[in-house]
Amino acid sequence: MSAARLKNTGRYRARPPAEPAEISANSIKTVLRTLDRDAHIATPIRPQGAATASTDCNVSSSGTAIQLSGLDRILNIDAYNHTVTAQAGVRLYALAEALAEHGLELIGNHEMTGRTLGGAIAAPCLGAGIGREAGSLGSHVINLKIVTGAGKPMTVTSEQKNLLCAMRASYGLLGVIVEATLRVQPISTFTATHRRLSIEEFSKVVDRLSNGDVGFRFCLMPYRDRVYLDLRRYGPDSGSSYSAPWKIKDWGESTVLPHVCKSLNRLLPIQSVRYRLIDSVTEATQGIVNSRFVRAGSNATAATGGRTASSTRRVLYSTWCFPASDFSFVLKAYEQFCTEMYERTGYRCDVPAIGYRVVKDASAVLSPSFDEPMIALQTASTQQKGWDDFVIDLADFAEHWAGVPIFSQTRSVRAEYAGQVYADRLDFFRRIRRQLDPEDRLLTPFMAQYFQ
Ligand SMILES: Cc1cc2nc3c(=O)[nH]c(=O)nc-3n(C[C@H](O)[C@H](O)[C@H](O)COP(=O)(O)OP(=O)(O)OC[C@H]3O[C@@H](n4cnc5c(N)ncnc54)[C@H](O)[C@@H]3O)c2cc1C
Repeated sequence: MSAARLKNTGRYRARPPAEPAEISANSIKTVLRTLDRDAHIATPIRPQGAATASTDCNVSSSGTAIQLSGLDRILNIDAYNHTVTAQAGVRLYALAEALAEHGLELIGNHEMTGRTLGGAIAAPCLGAGIGREAGSLGSHVINLKIVTGAGKPMTVTSEQKNLLCAMRASYGLLGVIVEATLRVQPISTFTATHRRLSIEEFSKVVDRLSNGDVGFRFCLMPYRDRVYLDLRRYGPDSGSSYSAPWKIKDWGESTVLPHVCKSLNRLLPIQSVRYRLIDSVTEATQGIVNSRFVRAGSNATAATGGRTASSTRRVLYSTWCFPASDFSFVLKAYEQFCTEMYERTGYRCDVPAIGYRVVKDASAVLSPSFDEPMIALQTASTQQKGWDDFVIDLADFAEHWAGVPIFSQTRSVRAEYAGQVYADRLDFFRRIRRQLDPEDRLLTPFMAQYFQ
């Protein structure tokens, strides 16, 4: 009997066809409808912000991705109590610009401001903050509105401490964040100074810097034995800060440099010549763009760059966090690892690694710096061929040095190793996840390897 005949009898009802695999939400109603259990949307469902994560945490190959960047309204800026309430799809640069009009800024110095507020709360959002500011943006969240895996609205406030702790850095596994309120602060200006060091020289000072109140970000070139260090301090004489130098810096680092590297990789077949040129261009960019232009800044002016998530697609990256107390050793070992890899496999990264301090932060169950201060090291390249093998070896290296992975930014993490590192916290998180999403509607196979 044919399917058409079955339908005609009226005894059998054909199931409505599944919805398309990507849904763009520009209202909370759409999010509620998408997650409604009766909506016949293909599961698993994965929330997606600006899609700048480097892993498959924001895609669902057999289910549905719900795109949230259309939820882009800033709902309230409370200049008296220093808070802001915004929808989850608002880009960080838009939030920074709106806050600046009220003399306020986000707490912490966050790059890649093309990411969404929801993505920056649901995944660790780390940057070169000064003192206690060098934590994740999510730690300043005081209120969240979410839609659970079963399609129910839910509000989590700072009174529900444990639940809020689980929600921060929950990678969209406990529900879809639709709105958030976070603490902000009045704009303060910092000075930015720059140093050019060898890896040995940097390893001698990194410990002291990690324990101090200074903010720092470094650009590491293992094949040149070179570190470009950017130090940030608040002070009475910090001067005025303008956004133009930060825009130029960001344009140089995240658009021009990857573009030049890609072009040289295409044009110059001889590796040794090509890399010599690439490294020289990188050094020139660091020397000119940072040292000449960027002298002072604020979290508001520094957040003006990094807006285009599309330019970042040129760059492949994998971030590991290492205990700050061991980082002087990790640095030298990393240089050796990169050199040996190049000799053995012929693969090397063409853009420099970027690092910054991350303070001890227990505000999220899955915080990568829950137990101690860390240094985040973002290894990056524009070269796809050989990258997948390289990140597997990088993961081996990182495991050896007690590296802590971030599920949205670290490639090739072994599930067993993640279980060892996050240990009891992961078990606790899994228990909450099972309660909030008992039918695994938000759990893709990629996420299940760590969170089931
Ligand atoms: C070139 C480059 C530089 C970067 N530099 C930094 C850096 O300096 N520091 C840093 O911390 N990160 C950095 N990142 C990583 C990235 O920007 C962050 O992981 C970011 O927080 C992801 O935000 P997104 O909006 O792109 O989210 P996506 O990548 O779309 O999603 C990330 C995770 O959050 C979940 N999610 C997204 N939105 C929601 C929501 N509304 N509700 C529930 N879950 C949600 C997704 O399911 C996924 O698990 C960089 C990335 C690139 C490409």
